[in-house]
Amino acid sequence: MLILVINCGSSSIKYQLFEINSQYTILAKGLVERIGLPGSNIAHKPNGKDEVVINKDLPDHRAALAAIEEALVSPVHGVIKDVNEIAGVGHRVVHGGEKFTRSILINEHVLDAIRENAKLAPLHNPPNITGIEVSQALMPGVPNVAVFDTAIHQTMPKKAYLYGLPIDLYHKHGIRKYGFHGTSHGYVAKQAAKLLNKPFETLKIITCHLGNGGSITAFDHGKSVDTSMGLTPLEGIVMGTRSGDIDPAIVLYLQEELGVSLSQTNDLLNKQSGLKGLCGKNDMRDIVKLANQGEEMAQVAIDVFCYRIQKYIGSYVAVLNGVNAIVFTAGIGENSPFLREQVLENFSYLGLKLDTAKNRANEQIFSTKDSKVAAMMIRTNEELVIAQDTFDIITRR
Ligand code: AMP
Repeated sequence: MLILVINCGSSSIKYQLFEINSQYTILAKGLVERIGLPGSNIAHKPNGKDEVVINKDLPDHRAALAAIEEALVSPVHGVIKDVNEIAGVGHRVVHGGEKFTRSILINEHVLDAIRENAKLAPLHNPPNITGIEVSQALMPGVPNVAVFDTAIHQTMPKKAYLYGLPIDLYHKHGIRKYGFHGTSHGYVAKQAAKLLNKPFETLKIITCHLGNGGSITAFDHGKSVDTSMGLTPLEGIVMGTRSGDIDPAIVLYLQEELGVSLSQTNDLLNKQSGLKGLCGKNDMRDIVKLANQGEEMAQVAIDVFCYRIQKYIGSYVAVLNGVNAIVFTAGIGENSPFLREQVLENFSYLGLKLDTAKNRANEQIFSTKDSKVAAMMIRTNEELVIAQDTFDIITRR
């Protein structure tokens, strides 16, 4: 069975075509960029062959998805004969609000609810909705499944998801912590349990998704009980360009004292802050290089980044009353032994002992055999989860 996985952004679409029988094989994957902008193109990588970049005028998402279909059936770099072979499409949807606690087959009611949640995720849900609408239009009759970044965190208790705000804001406007990156956190936490050879439901696990965006989640016996992102993906640790936690009064100060407008404040907190705000760069590889060359603010940015992560891990150890495994994933978490080491340097009080050689060799378990807490690096695979959920839902119908 063929499942197409789509992650639709405002000017880009990431895709992967999976063949599912007894195992999952990626037949092709790719990225369409600059949709609606000059210089739009599609980078398409068929399994076992070189990537091809096709420059093509793509005025909108419909044209972009049509270009993906063309690439998939192309006689030169295609991997299937006909798009009708695709049995289902799985969509990443960022915000599922409180309605969606798991992945779901999309019908008009579901689509309306996703539209309703767009006010909580104005940057993310609208392009996700567009992705669903164009795939319904271009592949009529093919079932679509929504997989939500927020769903796994719906198990958080009230004490974790409520803010200390007037309760009407929650009841009337849904203002609460939702959390994001759920597909990734859930995947790596379950993989960690498998690697440790223990049921997920018996473990206390802290997962650190550290990419350009980042978040930390506490899993207690298989359930997310707290996570660092909030109503939006702005809360939590210091990220590439996002501030993470700040005193909310800073927003008032910016507006009242410095005359910064609402949209400038939004831009400042989401796009000009975090690592970029501290040292001018948001790519961690550049920052590490500059710090090694003695650039003071690059080192400060690394220190702030690691310190905030340590504080979250420490608080989640308290929330969980102990921890069996601390798991690192995403761009920074998967590729930087140096940063993993810096983050974990304060946890010897838990009986955590690192095997630095294993860490530097990027091994999945990089704590010593006698360590009381497992330190782990697991590569995330959100697309695989979306493909699995889509397959499960459409075969159960
Ligand atoms: P993601 O959003 O998951 O793609 O992660 C992107 C982030 O991972 C960027 O900040 C990259 O600089 C960072 N990254 C990737 N490889 C490395 C590496 N070897 N060392 C440090 N950071 C890395």
